Amino acid sequence: MTTKRDYYQVLGVDRNADTQQIKARYRKLALKYHPDRNPGNKEAEERFKEAAEAYEVLRDPEKRRIYDQYGHEGLQGSGFSGFRGFDDIFSSFSDIFEDFFGFGSSRSRASARRGADLRYDLTISFMEAAFGVEKEIEVEKAHTCPSCEGSACEPGTSPESCRYCGGTGHISRSQGFFSIRSTCPQCRGRGTVIRHPCRQCQGTGQVLQKKKVSVKMPAGVDTGSRLRLTGEGEAGPYGGPPGDLYIYVNVEPHEFFQRDNNDIVCQVPISFVQAALGDTIEVPTLNGNKKLKIPKGTQPGDIFRFEGEGIPSLRGYGRGDQIIQVVVKTPTNLNKKQERLLREFAAIESAKLTTRIKKMFNS
Ligand SMILES: [Zn+2]
Ligand SMILES: [Zn+2]
Repeated sequence: MTTKRDYYQVLGVDRNADTQQIKARYRKLALKYHPDRNPGNKEAEERFKEAAEAYEVLRDPEKRRIYDQYGHEGLQGSGFSGFRGFDDIFSSFSDIFEDFFGFGSSRSRASARRGADLRYDLTISFMEAAFGVEKEIEVEKAHTCPSCEGSACEPGTSPESCRYCGGTGHISRSQGFFSIRSTCPQCRGRGTVIRHPCRQCQGTGQVLQKKKVSVKMPAGVDTGSRLRLTGEGEAGPYGGPPGDLYIYVNVEPHEFFQRDNNDIVCQVPISFVQAALGDTIEVPTLNGNKKLKIPKGTQPGDIFRFEGEGIPSLRGYGRGDQIIQVVVKTPTNLNKKQERLLREFAAIESAKLTTRIKKMFNS
């Protein structure tokens, strides 16, 4: 056998530390070096085993006395050396851990929990997203039962001590060398049972209720934005803190505007004459119509930009732009005169084209 470190040194406690201090130190070390938290780490595994062994001896007054007097050899000589296979330790550790997590404050630990978070999907219009909006929504969620005030007992009654575990919340069983404590299955570690459950909440301590919640959407929210309303989730069981309410935003499409982050993209139709000769047109923006100058010779798909006419940034400063793409429309249903003029135009165009082609081949 290799040399062993002093058990007190292993746990980092004083030689006259009491059981509470030893337990507290061990719990800290066991959590730190637990193999689940340190996969493949040999050193952590060694520390974990070493701490477990030290704890098993120092928690037991008889073994501790022998160890104090005779050291490691003392335990070997007394028949205590049969520290069983480490696999046994690991298999029993889940129980020990359960015990530890509830240790000292098992009642409040086992009962008071944080309430559940809730999700609410909210659809708003394009304009509401652009300008911000305040909405009132109705959320059905668990509230503390008004009849029993969350105690889950019928008013006038109170929880009784659990007979199965004698009110401790734990049961102990011996497993060879170890005495394993685990959470009482009857009362789930609470130490008490409820003989007369509250009728209004069926002994759950909570009732479902609808509540109106006001949600303030800042300007600039978009589909996929998520807002958190702290404390607006479900009530925590047995007096635990409430969860949060998350609002998932969905923005409806707009018939004219599209969104590209904070930019607004739109398409504006112009006639081929406007494209060729140039013109000034009116374009809708978030803040009413605005004049846009179309230069001579504008091509289909050309892009113009109104700076700062887009969506306000959610971060609170600056705005996107409005991007305008022109769509050149080919005229239909021409009257006689229009058609005649276009044919004249075409004749000139083709004459120009012929001249250009001739030039190309003659050069
Ligand atoms: Zn109730
Ligand atoms: Zn019990």
